[in-house]
Amino acid sequence: MSPNIAKKQRFVGKTAIITGAGSGIGRATAIQMAREGANVALFDLVNERTSVLEQKLNKLRKDCALAIDVDTSDAERMEEAVRRTIEHFGSLDIVFANAGINGAVGPIEELSLSDWERTMSVNLTGTFLTLKYTIPHLKDKGKGSIIITSSINGNTRFTSFGWSPYSTTKAGQVAFAKMAALELAKFKIRVNVICPGAISTNIDETTEFNEDVEEIVIPIEFPEGAQPLADGPGKAENVADLVSFLASDESIHITGAQIVIDGAESLLS
Ligand code: NAD
Repeated sequence: MSPNIAKKQRFVGKTAIITGAGSGIGRATAIQMAREGANVALFDLVNERTSVLEQKLNKLRKDCALAIDVDTSDAERMEEAVRRTIEHFGSLDIVFANAGINGAVGPIEELSLSDWERTMSVNLTGTFLTLKYTIPHLKDKGKGSIIITSSINGNTRFTSFGWSPYSTTKAGQVAFAKMAALELAKFKIRVNVICPGAISTNIDETTEFNEDVEEIVIPIEFPEGAQPLADGPGKAENVADLVSFLASDESIHITGAQIVIDGAESLLS
């Protein structure tokens, strides 16, 4: 976080739901928003991570964090998790639909239906359910900000061979975000979608490589290095800065925007 941002208190009195809050981009965003005054509901599948974060944030500011063990692709659990958040914090202002997996990577004919469906269900259905159950509470508030984490894959980049399920979900999230932005504008609810390039997180733990993937790779000769601006992958905190901007009133006239955050990576590939 930059020193100027650290001094800001953009989220005092606001409540945010952050999915995938236990690690990487979601975790960095939860920390930043809590430091800037937000109450944060930490939604994640891996509860050990979010309960440790919950304790850390509640030490920072009393009762500002609530960890909820939830699979974002499970409709009943998501509805209950949102209900608990409202019961605990009273209302909702910000939704960060961020949970995602890399999932199965391989030649299309080698991917099983369950490989395909798993990636769809976490990345795409999970995003749908996150919005479905939170929108009524943003409408109650009379305004709100939703941010969805997509990727450069499926949007500006199509050279991650074997990543067709992942890339399809990430393209779908952009269409969904833009549809939602238009549908919700009259309720003063903004919806923006971010497309990160490589960011140092734990996401690679969720990749399931099929050994035949090498057969479909088309060799591409890159210039040296992959992220010219940063000379390496970005940091989760860089993405948290962008998400916080989009969540705050500083971006009050921005909705339906698709923002690439990749240190120029996708301009090379
Ligand atoms: P990460 O693995 O560090 O964090 C993701 C978190 O989401 C984990 O804590 C995981 O437990 C949680 N999660 C996964 N499935 C879930 C589910 N069904 N329900 C609830 N929680 C679930 O990864 P990250 O890089 O921080 O990923 C966050 C988002 O960023 C993802 O949507 C990912 O596709 C996207 N993204 C990441 C990169 C990158 O290079 N790291 C690049 C582009 C886009």
